[in-house]
Amino acid sequence: MSDHEMSDILVVGGGLTGLPLALALRGGAQDSGLSVTVLSMEGPDDRLAPEMDGRAFALSASSKNLLQLLGVWEHVADLAQPMTSVDISDSKLAEVIRPTLLHMDNEMESGEPAAFVVEAHVLRAALAKVYAGRDDIKVISPVDVTGFEVLPGKVEVKLATGETHTARLLVAADGRASNLRKVAKIQTIDWPASQWGIVATIAHSEPHHGRAVQHFLPSGPFAVLPLTDNRVSLVWTEQGDFASKVTQMDDDEFLAQVRLRMGEELVASLGDLSLAGPRNAFPLSMLVARDYVKERFALLGDAAHGMHWIAGQGLNYGLRDVAALAETLIDAHRLGLDIGSLSQLQRYEQWRRFDSFAFTASMVALNSLFSNENTLLRSVRDFGLNMAGNLPFAKNLFVNEAAGTSGTIPKMLKGELV
Ligand SMILES: Cc1cc2nc3c(=O)[nH]c(=O)nc-3n(C[C@H](O)[C@H](O)[C@H](O)COP(=O)(O)OP(=O)(O)OC[C@H]3O[C@@H](n4cnc5c(N)ncnc54)[C@H](O)[C@@H]3O)c2cc1C
Repeated sequence: MSDHEMSDILVVGGGLTGLPLALALRGGAQDSGLSVTVLSMEGPDDRLAPEMDGRAFALSASSKNLLQLLGVWEHVADLAQPMTSVDISDSKLAEVIRPTLLHMDNEMESGEPAAFVVEAHVLRAALAKVYAGRDDIKVISPVDVTGFEVLPGKVEVKLATGETHTARLLVAADGRASNLRKVAKIQTIDWPASQWGIVATIAHSEPHHGRAVQHFLPSGPFAVLPLTDNRVSLVWTEQGDFASKVTQMDDDEFLAQVRLRMGEELVASLGDLSLAGPRNAFPLSMLVARDYVKERFALLGDAAHGMHWIAGQGLNYGLRDVAALAETLIDAHRLGLDIGSLSQLQRYEQWRRFDSFAFTASMVALNSLFSNENTLLRSVRDFGLNMAGNLPFAKNLFVNEAAGTSGTIPKMLKGELV
């Protein structure tokens, strides 16, 4: 027997997809009639004042639409930096000049930026603020969810304390290492981590004009994303041994290595550089779950697909899941159908699985193609980038992908209520 009142939906994970899902399931500003409970490992104080971890997200215009509908964007807007152009280069580390092979004005036809850069702690705090003002979504925290059991017509979720909660549907938004995915015996296709992503925030004396730069270096991509207040966010890919050395370097040595990777032109345009936050390193493994749903169970965000940051799309794809799952469940609920039945959940799976798999696999291929010093390969990829830069339709394709407007997109990503 359950220790608590039964909810329609239990969301496990109070992270960057779990919390938006619970808001979206309540229909954004409109009440969908579904009752939602979030089981979060982080307590209220950790959620409201999250630590800066050096990560920043290039949020697509469609992710912005969703966050706007959920009332989150208004808490982020002043700290969101429009990314107005992207320059891509491909060179060896020793080459101080990094010629731009592809330049994109990162604007949609409407003139709006295709992406905005927001720091992880800013987004987390904004979500917590929205929750602080809502009493229609129950958040139970801090809790450690250890497992679940599917029973006739419901699912029972177990906590480490031995307590249980029941619902008609369980959504696992418990991150890349999802324990619930393992409990559900869902297999994954894995690409183990051979590279690490080092993140850091750098302040500079001259304006960046919203320009993002991605240098493809032999150790992997090195990205410089514009932030507000004359700062940039670095995501720098290295092999494991060197990555751990980088995080331990003193500040001067670290900045010297950063300048070397940025190349002469970018360093000259940004002016004096200094560290403006912590440095961190994350393993860049990738995985895709073979199934996204089972009876009374659905995977969301990184629990369903852990992507390489190479195209900065992990969270954007997670927010696409959010909008697709919310739309599927709200539609089913309005029609009086069982939201936890496999046949309803399969609509969500069909919508999202192929998209995420195709994208993750293409990122694996792109990363292997670029993290390579072979001269022939380099000529081929540079030819490809040059071609893309000279074909307006190819550039539009990139901008639409960055904006998240390609493919069949759920209503909330267009800023529409379900
Ligand atoms: C270096 C780096 C750079 C990135 N850059 C970008 C970028 O530019 N753009 C982009 O779109 N994405 C980026 N990403 C990806 C992005 O961080 C993830 O896609 C996103 O955080 C996934 O959100 P999530 O809610 O699915 O998982 P998470 O954010 O991992 O949240 C999972 C939540 O589940 C909770 N949890 C786990 N286990 C339990 C349990 N047993 N019980 C209760 N709760 C539990 C955790 O405490 C956590 O709150 C980047 C990632 C990395 C590593």
